[in-house]
Amino acid sequence: MYATNLHCFCCGANFPLTHRGSCTNCATVGEESALSETLGVQYDLAAIKRQLDREELVRRPVGLWRYHELLPVADPAFRIELGAGGTQLVPLARVPEALAGNRLFMKVEGSNPSGSFKDRPIGVAASVALEQGVHGLACLTSGNIGSAMAAVAAKAGVPALVLLLGAAGLSEQGLPVNVEKYVQISAYGAKVVTPTGNLGQLYALADRIETEMSWSFIHNVQAYQTDGDKTTAFEICEQLGWQAPSAVFVPTGTGTNLFGLWQGFVLFKELGFIDRLPRMFAVQPVGAASLVAAWEEQQAIPRILEYIEPNLAPPISHHVSGYHAYKAIQESGGGAVAVTDSDMLAALKDLASYEGIYAEAASAAALAGIRRAMAQGLLMQEETHRTGIVGILTSHGLKNSLALSKVFPPQTKIEGTWEALRNFLA
Ligand SMILES: [Zn+2]
Repeated sequence: MYATNLHCFCCGANFPLTHRGSCTNCATVGEESALSETLGVQYDLAAIKRQLDREELVRRPVGLWRYHELLPVADPAFRIELGAGGTQLVPLARVPEALAGNRLFMKVEGSNPSGSFKDRPIGVAASVALEQGVHGLACLTSGNIGSAMAAVAAKAGVPALVLLLGAAGLSEQGLPVNVEKYVQISAYGAKVVTPTGNLGQLYALADRIETEMSWSFIHNVQAYQTDGDKTTAFEICEQLGWQAPSAVFVPTGTGTNLFGLWQGFVLFKELGFIDRLPRMFAVQPVGAASLVAAWEEQQAIPRILEYIEPNLAPPISHHVSGYHAYKAIQESGGGAVAVTDSDMLAALKDLASYEGIYAEAASAAALAGIRRAMAQGLLMQEETHRTGIVGILTSHGLKNSLALSKVFPPQTKIEGTWEALRNFLA
């Protein structure tokens, strides 16, 4: 295996690969902070360079483990293979921006096995945990992590426990849980509970799950999740003919996916597989946009928001995003934009009705964010017309159809006659 250690991107400390939780210098146990997420996995790049080149990669089947030298699982027997990764990068052809000459691509992550990008980070984190000898898997989620984890637990034949909340980073606002996600998680055979208490209490509960039951609470191996997210960046580079796009727009809650993508692009550049890096942009809901505030106000470390406005994107509604994502935005010369419910709905409808792609509202935020950035003058014409922009559509629209059914008009009832149908179509 080429993974060597965990590294803190804030203070520079190194930890062994078996380290659990956050950086012990930067984060305070039980306290929510941007500094709870500062760790990444480091690799022996010189050794990988001797072993791997582009020609070797393209000979392999698509999916997560195509990149196994760049993932932290040593024994192939522990690489859970559910079919994650290998998703399409679709060039938009009919949305108004495409007709105006902009090169926009969507990475359609909803076609992963459980319907969201989470199959990548959870697939890797769960494989690492099982290789390290745990007996079960647990997580805290608004749904997509839970579905991904329950699916890999089923495939690996280990028990799973999901603490299900109405929004991923909120426990105290009393939001209802997403019924479709609850049903999906249950179908995979996981145990599901909807706990009360603040996030600090729930994380303390999670630590007990680890110590009392020898299970892995999947958030305690967060660095391994970002490692799974890297594979999205690898695929994008390959799909664009071994180059990075000008910019990547990522719907952002904790920021783990954005940081993982950034790490992936950086790794491919260090290996000589691409020659330049993209700018990374976070897209967040208005009223839940800690990174937007941090970026606009040039905060040293993103501050925690006291209250989150209810919105159509619970998977990306958090009090604070991770420092790692903030650092990726800064290092890449990117930025952060906030989008409204109506921005996300317009993007959702356009992706579906012009392009045939049905994405969850929190995913459609990617296109809404590109539109917002173009309107704010954050993207140059060279970027949008020549090299191109990628949006990450993180999950499938079927993940949250019930909530959306309220914003579309009810079905029209007609008599089953030709006259009635002709009048309806007129
Ligand atoms: Zn640190």
